[in-house]
Amino acid sequence: MPRPIPVPDADSAPFWAACREHRLTAQQCTTCGRRRWPPAEVCPHCRKLGATWVDVRGTGTITSFVVQHQAMHPAFSDAVPYTIAFVSLDEAPEDLLLLSNVIDIPWEDVRVGMRVEVAFDDSTEGVSLPLFRPMPRERL
Ligand SMILES: [Zn+2]
Repeated sequence: MPRPIPVPDADSAPFWAACREHRLTAQQCTTCGRRRWPPAEVCPHCRKLGATWVDVRGTGTITSFVVQHQAMHPAFSDAVPYTIAFVSLDEAPEDLLLLSNVIDIPWEDVRVGMRVEVAFDDSTEGVSLPLFRPMPRERL
């Protein structure tokens, strides 16, 4: 059974298109200049319309996480246990908080405060998923 994949909408389509090029991007408000996540038409900070897309490095810090032990969808039965984390991106730690998976590390070793970097998963047809892995100095 194939895994469900993100379905881009008008607001998120540029984000997913950039992921296909292995670029992580975020909206930046043209009025107040703050970055925002998730993609939206209206700025959550100043309530104005208008944004540009800017690249971000894809480095950040795990601020919280859970370990999923039970497959809530049959397509994930071979994936459990896996880690779901909030990653606060370096460019705007309070505004760019992405929810994703942590890979390349046993779930027992994931911790809050761990430095991570984006890694694009191209294993699913039609989408590149931005996942996060420990930065090299975090690896043993
Ligand atoms: Zn704004």
